[in-house]
Amino acid sequence: MKTAYISHHDCTLHNMGAEHPESPLRLTAILDQLQDTRLNQELDFMRAELVNPDHVRRVHPATYVEQLDLIQPKKGRIYADEDTIMMPDTMRAAKLAAGAAVQAVDAVMSGQNKNAFCATRPPGHHAERNKTMGFCFYNNIAVAAKHALDFHGLERVAIIDFDVHQGNGTVDIFQNDPRVLVCSSFQHPYYPFSHHAVDQPNILNLPLEAHTQGLSFRNKTEAAWLNELQNHKPQLILISAGFDAHKNDPMADLELDKTDYRWITQMLMDVAKYYSNDRIVSILEGGYNLKALAESAEQHLEVLAGY
Ligand SMILES: [Zn+2]
Repeated sequence: MKTAYISHHDCTLHNMGAEHPESPLRLTAILDQLQDTRLNQELDFMRAELVNPDHVRRVHPATYVEQLDLIQPKKGRIYADEDTIMMPDTMRAAKLAAGAAVQAVDAVMSGQNKNAFCATRPPGHHAERNKTMGFCFYNNIAVAAKHALDFHGLERVAIIDFDVHQGNGTVDIFQNDPRVLVCSSFQHPYYPFSHHAVDQPNILNLPLEAHTQGLSFRNKTEAAWLNELQNHKPQLILISAGFDAHKNDPMADLELDKTDYRWITQMLMDVAKYYSNDRIVSILEGGYNLKALAESAEQHLEVLAGY
């Protein structure tokens, strides 16, 4: 079985402006990195499909979902919040990103693919139940988790979020749902300045000081998460794969390199092997230095693909 790579060209149509770091070029950079590699031959490339709105409404209130469609401009750009800009193709891209998350779960649960990576945007982990935030509209990883629980009938899943920013939206959505173990590492104190102090047994926040390097990241994530993952026995592992903790990323101040993404992916593969029948669904979140993003995503994909 192959690793699925789920994406769609129209995810690049959402364009918040030349100065905005969450750029369509992020997806192009990852795809370009895979050219002339073994991965390019071995990944199962799939086209994302538009999400069924019911799947989004498992996570966000119907009024929120309707409101986003209503405020999307027919031309020009508007601010959905101070960081998050909408333009005519924004919600099409968001619906493809959420649709890819559902497809990824279906592909992995059906046994069609051993694991899956969604190379999609806009990202999702800052989107709270009722609030756009931090370039995010729909919380894609939450849509995937809810689909796995409510449609596929899983009883326990885990979400691992190694983006440099805390996954406040994901915590907001699952803080009272013990079926979902949320493990989030992040620079602290730093954006989004919320949900980092949530005290629930299923929420494992791992704040990291600015300038934390790879070895310390590895030691701390393993110490904080491995036992808890083994206790939770997730039937599916979901990864909020943000690559902005890389030392060359302009957005923040952690100092990982691409091999740290290889390491953490391997740790999660090992957990998945024992508890999840190897099932992993990984969804792109942040990562704003195009070279660092592309190289880190390649490392992540190589491990998912089994080498
Ligand atoms: Zn981020």
